[in-house]
Amino acid sequence: MDKRWQRVFTLLSEMYPDARCELNYETPFELLIATILSAQCTDQRVNIITPRLFQRFRSPEDYLEVSQDELEDLIRTCGLYRNKARSIIGCCRVLVRDFQGVVPRDLVSLESLPGVGRKTAAVVASNAFGVPALAVDTHVFRVARRIGLARGDTPEKVEAEVCAIYPREQWIELHHILIWHGRRLCHARKPDCEQCPLAADCDQAISGSAREVSV
Ligand code: SF4
Repeated sequence: MDKRWQRVFTLLSEMYPDARCELNYETPFELLIATILSAQCTDQRVNIITPRLFQRFRSPEDYLEVSQDELEDLIRTCGLYRNKARSIIGCCRVLVRDFQGVVPRDLVSLESLPGVGRKTAAVVASNAFGVPALAVDTHVFRVARRIGLARGDTPEKVEAEVCAIYPREQWIELHHILIWHGRRLCHARKPDCEQCPLAADCDQAISGSAREVSV
């Protein structure tokens, strides 16, 4: 691996030694529901909603006993609540029908669930089961492109480029440290390049034109 990319990984690891998923959950199923809820919503807001939700709905079967309207009311504050309620109920229906109500570990099965795209599947597989995967959300997409780890204009292309640079054992940590960096320093609107230890290795800082890059 290029020494520059090694340095980027080491610096980010040192900056964020506690980087981890910031959604609260105790089981793979709870993580799956929380991740569906987190689309275009902050983890903090999801974490406000989920304690009550998880107390009432403990299994996929439980969600099949609630009406779409009632579920919408329970998750309304995290936005896109109609789509999210539909996704959760559809996802639980398939979990019960095809997976004995158990969240599958592999990416292909996870992606077969309604409302579960590549990013959600990767978040669940990597965090809940330790399966090497690089979930590319808006932060990973933006930060990876700014640094120069990737040039692709879709999350899929960025995932392929970054995964080609780093070994599988580093993908999960890389996902977390890139997200933490995007949330704490390399902000979408105004990256704090002057405070950033990565500046000497970052394409955008070197070219002096850190710009807004989002999904
Ligand atoms: S130098 Fe600036 S653009 Fe590059 S990673 Fe750091 S904050 Fe982001």
